[in-house]
Amino acid sequence: MSASADTTTRPSDDADSFASLDPRTGAEVGRYPIHDRAHVRAAVDAAAEAATWWEGLGFAGRRKRLANWRRTLVAQIDGLARTVREETGKPFDDARLELVLAIDHLDWASANAEKVLKKRSVSPGLLMANQAASLAYRPFGVIGVIGPWNYPVFTPMGSIAYALAAGNAVVFKPSELTPGVGHALARTFAEAVPDAAQHPVFTVVTGKGETGAELCRAPGVGKIAFTGSSATGRRVMATASENLVPVLIECGGKDPLIVAADADVEAAADAAVWGGMSNAGQTCVGVERVYAVESVADRFLAAVTAKARSLRVTATDGPDGDFGPMTMPAQLEIVRRHVTDALERGGRAVVGGADSVGERSVAPVVIADVPEESSAVTEETFGPLLVVNRVPDVDEAVRRANATGYGLGATVFSEKRGDDIAARLRCGMVSVNGVISFAGIPSLPFGGVGESGFGRIHGEDGLREFTRPQAVARQRFALPIAVTSFKRT
Ligand code: NAD
Repeated sequence: MSASADTTTRPSDDADSFASLDPRTGAEVGRYPIHDRAHVRAAVDAAAEAATWWEGLGFAGRRKRLANWRRTLVAQIDGLARTVREETGKPFDDARLELVLAIDHLDWASANAEKVLKKRSVSPGLLMANQAASLAYRPFGVIGVIGPWNYPVFTPMGSIAYALAAGNAVVFKPSELTPGVGHALARTFAEAVPDAAQHPVFTVVTGKGETGAELCRAPGVGKIAFTGSSATGRRVMATASENLVPVLIECGGKDPLIVAADADVEAAADAAVWGGMSNAGQTCVGVERVYAVESVADRFLAAVTAKARSLRVTATDGPDGDFGPMTMPAQLEIVRRHVTDALERGGRAVVGGADSVGERSVAPVVIADVPEESSAVTEETFGPLLVVNRVPDVDEAVRRANATGYGLGATVFSEKRGDDIAARLRCGMVSVNGVISFAGIPSLPFGGVGESGFGRIHGEDGLREFTRPQAVARQRFALPIAVTSFKRT
């Protein structure tokens, strides 16, 4: 599990500023201010004024401006992808894909906000037939968005785009590992929406955990949308509770992949390796554990082994490999601990091992037959480590899949029973015969259960998440006392 401010402090950081580093080389690529309480509160106050203007534009006015933002992002996509690559170390193509998916969400949110959120009449029921009843979804005002570093555009955009489309202003605190990406997003917004110069509808504050905490407790914030580790999620909830501010919490996961006896084994192996290793395994909804039914387990493991061995890791200053270094150096130690623990408890190293953990990156590791109590099975690893365990049948696979405290995503490979197995999984999202597919479908809600958090981004639920329902009952005519007093005669 990744941690908060302490794990991201660099030697050159001081009380007022911090460095952003290229994880491939360790070179400083930018320096950013650590915004304090006064700065965060001023940003929130300005956003609160801007929110009134933004809400007043109505759905059409916002749609037009968000469409401009979309066009600007598309026009600048390669430059933005280079910024993402520089601060995360991920391959350029992965960074670009992240942007494409984020832009698609922006598109969907702005196109659908009116349909989902516009004021509507509802039936008052027989007893209250003299009332005209309506339901409106009203914006909160200011949404504080706190983001992680692993998908520094795609992940926060799931809150930013939906919150803006719903009529809120946003103050965004990007991860201290990716502040340049946060600034790049705000710059493109300012270019696309010039009237936001007078009305700061989308602003960025930079800093570490304390800056995020100040955003959580700033008076005027209507809701906090947090994405990060479960440990930080708990702190965010505690701080937001000071002002009884509602929170949306998107946290970590330990996503399982189930390979049933009737699975397309090659496709399942592709999914396991891509879902487990892409972005160096630093994906909340990746694949961290596999439960393969005995009858196909050997074939599956052979296919995974061949695929994992063929992967290339980006070398310092070299061309992009299949995945890059660990973005947060502190994560190296967690991966090393999980690999060592799995092997010491009797797991079988199939690809790589403890030596795969290098100075900046981790080469692919696949370990089979890992005891379920191992930290590699129970805790989020967030590295290119795949645990492959064999099970007698799908029932046992489902039981083990559901056995951790997390419940974000899951993957099922089965030709005939995919949907049935999916229905038995305790998690927010399932891909059947594919992997992480749900994240790219804007109309589907995204989020988890248990230690993976609560609330939903994306889709209709994601739009409503950034609004509060307001009920209005307007009396159309007075009813005789006999009817309204409910007296029995
Ligand atoms: P993190 O929890 O360390 O930090 C997330 C953000 O919270 C950062 O911006 C950080 O500065 C801020 N923060 C830290 N302490 C804070 C505090 N006390 N109050 C307010 N804000 C604070 O997480 P990370 O290392 O940036 O991201 C990796 C984690 O995020 C993984 O666990 C991953 O699974 C999870 N994640 C989840 C999703 C999802 O949608 N569920 C998506 C991406 C990442």
